[in-house]
Amino acid sequence: MIIVLKEQPEAQQLQNLEEWLIGLGLEIHHSEGVHSTVLGLVGDTSRVDTDLIEALDIVASVKRIQEPYKNANRKFHPMNSVINVGDTSIGGDVFAKIAGPCSVESEEQIISIAKEVKAAGATMLRGGAFKPRTSPYAFQGMGGDGIELLLKAKKETGLPIVTEVMDLSQLELFADVDVIQVGARNMQNFQLLKELGHSNKPILLKRGLAATISELLMSAEYIMAGGNENVILCERGIRTFETATRNTLDISAVPVLKELSHLPVVIDPSHSAGIARYVHTLTMSAVAAGVDGIMIEVHNDPAKALCDGPQSIKPDAFAKISKDIDTLLETVRGF
Ligand code: PEP
Ligand code: MN
Repeated sequence: MIIVLKEQPEAQQLQNLEEWLIGLGLEIHHSEGVHSTVLGLVGDTSRVDTDLIEALDIVASVKRIQEPYKNANRKFHPMNSVINVGDTSIGGDVFAKIAGPCSVESEEQIISIAKEVKAAGATMLRGGAFKPRTSPYAFQGMGGDGIELLLKAKKETGLPIVTEVMDLSQLELFADVDVIQVGARNMQNFQLLKELGHSNKPILLKRGLAATISELLMSAEYIMAGGNENVILCERGIRTFETATRNTLDISAVPVLKELSHLPVVIDPSHSAGIARYVHTLTMSAVAAGVDGIMIEVHNDPAKALCDGPQSIKPDAFAKISKDIDTLLETVRGF
């Protein structure tokens, strides 16, 4: 980080600033110019509040040289992270296929879908028990009963389960859940992220509807700063001026995230498109872009789904996508 001082800074204020920075464990390199002095800070500046420094009378400007996230940063962890989930994993050479309904609706529904997606190559089962719906009158999910049904489906198929937590108060119900999903609307629920940082479970963190890539990484950092390194990043489409699709899949987020971070990246083509017939194309584009996995909504009877039917594909369509992913991976990854 570089701090440019105004001309002739007041000595006491400068001393206070320097003492404070040294107290944060940073080394200060001075560079005296004709009109201004530049302080170069060496060390971990991730805890330094740039706004605070910029507001000081003696400071002209502040510039970060290094990203404010450390744990999620590839610079400090060059190798791709591999996250273990039950008997499977995600990241590195292992591509994850996460599939299942938007929400768990009944025992019969979740178990039959779980069996079908497993037969088609899914490596994890997704299903919402707590649903963040736009309308308070829409189906809100089965709650704890939904988690019980997911656990039954896990027992039947062996597939690890991924399900969303919406609030801290629900966390005790997640003891046997394999991957805890943080939904787009909760990406900046910092209290929730901090609590998940104390868990040892993998967290699938979805990008907020209007969040930048840097904000997504800072949210991952919240979890990792608490000691939980098992974070999976999920691009699920962002809100743009375009209305032809529910959201706009930010495909460039994939190479950017892979460059900036060592964490596995998955895309969710279902919420990106909002329309089932686009799911195949978006999935293939994401595989070509280098994702570590996909998460797709699959329903046995989309027309009757209690949530997100229009974007849900049937199990046979998932089977085709799964096969096509494998074919494309051979080309993209050369194995
Ligand atoms: C979901 O995965 O069903 C979901 C609600 O996703 P998002 O948070 O991305 O809207
Ligand atoms: Mn959904």
